[in-house]
Order: sequence, then structure tokens, then C-alpha cells
Amino acid sequence: MQIQQTQSTSRDLIERWIVQHVLEGRSNSELEGTMFVYGNEAYTLEQTSQGALSIIEYPVSNVVVFRKKEEADPANVCRACGLDYSSFKEAIECCADVD
Ligand SMILES: [Zn+2]
Repeated sequence: MQIQQTQSTSRDLIERWIVQHVLEGRSNSELEGTMFVYGNEAYTLEQTSQGALSIIEYPVSNVVVFRKKEEADPANVCRACGLDYSSFKEAIECCADVD
């Protein structure tokens, strides 16, 4: 019962994502190959011979997502003085030269 519910939720999310991107003007060919990770489930989009997208469950036993440092801390703030910058590069260079 629980598993069934989880599965429909992930498919609902993917279907909503597809609709959203199709409305933004993306073609099915562009969306093909997208991978979705939902907990320990992975799904990928495949295009059928009719050109429609179908959601294929990707067989994995474990999913580990590593985030890059920039993604984990999207605010480009200097960790030393707290100034805000428009890029991560500027933020890390801010107080880098201070003795
Ligand atoms: Zn600084």
C-alpha cells in the first residue's frame, strides 16, 4: 500500500514536470533521457516509436546524490566578512588575500 502510493507520487511529479517543460516549448526529443531521482527510485524518459514520452523505472538499489559546493550554498556570500556578491567566484576571492 505504502509502496504503491510512493510510486504514483513520483510518477505524478514526473508527469507534472513533463507538462511544465512541454508548455515552455521543449520538445519530447529534448526531454528524452532526463533522469529523475525520487528517494531511492530513479526514472528516465524514453521516447516511444510514436514520439510520445514514457516514464521508465530505472533499476537501482541505492541512490546517492552528491551536490557541488556551489549548489549547496547558492548565496554568494563571503564567509569571512559576509558581503554579498553576484558570483560564487567573487565571494571566495573577497577575503582570500587578507593576511
Ligand atoms: Zn570578505
